[in-house]
Amino acid sequence: MAVSFYNFQKSLETELKNSILQRFQEIVESHQFVDGTYNKLFEQEFAAFCGTKHTLLVANGTDALELSLMALGIKAGDKVIIPDVTFFATFEAVINTGGTPILADVDPQTGLLCTNSLSDLLAQHNDVKFIIPVHLYGLPAPIKKIETLCEGRDIKIIEDAAQAHGAQLNSKTKVGASGHLTTFSFYPTKNLGAYGDAGAITLNDDHLATLLKSLRNHGRSKQGHQIVGRNSRCDHLQAAVLQARLINYPNQLLTRRKMAKAYFKQLSSIKNISLLPTSVLESSSWHLFPIFLNSKQEKLEIKEFLQKKQIETALFYERPISSEPALSSFETKHLIHSQKFADKTLCLPMNPFLTLEDVSEVTEQIAQYFKTKEKVKGTIQRPEVTV
Ligand SMILES: *Cc1c(COP(=O)(O)O)cnc(C)c1O
Repeated sequence: MAVSFYNFQKSLETELKNSILQRFQEIVESHQFVDGTYNKLFEQEFAAFCGTKHTLLVANGTDALELSLMALGIKAGDKVIIPDVTFFATFEAVINTGGTPILADVDPQTGLLCTNSLSDLLAQHNDVKFIIPVHLYGLPAPIKKIETLCEGRDIKIIEDAAQAHGAQLNSKTKVGASGHLTTFSFYPTKNLGAYGDAGAITLNDDHLATLLKSLRNHGRSKQGHQIVGRNSRCDHLQAAVLQARLINYPNQLLTRRKMAKAYFKQLSSIKNISLLPTSVLESSSWHLFPIFLNSKQEKLEIKEFLQKKQIETALFYERPISSEPALSSFETKHLIHSQKFADKTLCLPMNPFLTLEDVSEVTEQIAQYFKTKEKVKGTIQRPEVTV
């Protein structure tokens, strides 16, 4: 039985094809192509969803990071700590705003920014200006601990929540509501996806919100161009898609969590696989469902085995930032876990259209892979037993 990774087809069929096409017609006829009525509506509703004061739509998630760094006054050469396991955009945003990225090691169990590594880096560099923790896979990064480590120093935290719409920082606070500038992506494959590119920044600070509104629109304000900004506006069509999809999102989040629980239940008996800590079952937004194997080779073998059974899996991320070909001159001696983490991680299908039958199919095939492997081992050993 085929199991698809994102299941766009089902999303279109079961969700909103009609209502979205109706909105497209409405927008085309209104000639309101950027920053329209749906932009304002979505900004209000996403802010309410997160529990934050402001949401500002921008062109994409990478811009959300760059504009946040700009709004907080990044200067050439400013040191910015980011985790070594993340999407490349986190790294790019620092480079493209003139900053100097410093890669921190990751927690070997979760892939999140490791607070011990962070603590070491803060001791080594007394001039760190920013930290960008990433809520990887939808798991909440340890923001409280990071705040504690920054106490008494002028360090700004920007949260990269491109994968964490609706994740819980703790039982009361959602990601996006911490008061730090928090950035989201609405790229089509993300939990809340547009039909093209879009992103947002959430925040509580009125002054920074005004500044960001100006920065995303060429530095414009009522008095003219008082600062130099850029173009990072969000299309009205994308805002209309997002506003429609947000209505279904809370239920979709529940489905993701239910499917994650089913995976946990069925995979925990397979001894060659490790999973994330069960404590994140209710707090993660389950953008991705990673499993951890014993070796890179085993990971690739399982991927191929599942591919043959028409089960789609993905490598997020195939390698840590420090191993990307674009980097050659970065300090990496202190990165002990990130390469190993990337080597052992395989992401199983996860989307809100997944069914319990799909999950069973995936886990049964994985169990089958290990059974087949045991058998092969058995046949190899047999000739050694001579009479
Ligand atoms: C997707 C993603 C981004 C970038 O978002 P775009 O909308 O593609 O620019 C940044 N950080 C992380 C962790 C992401 O997953």
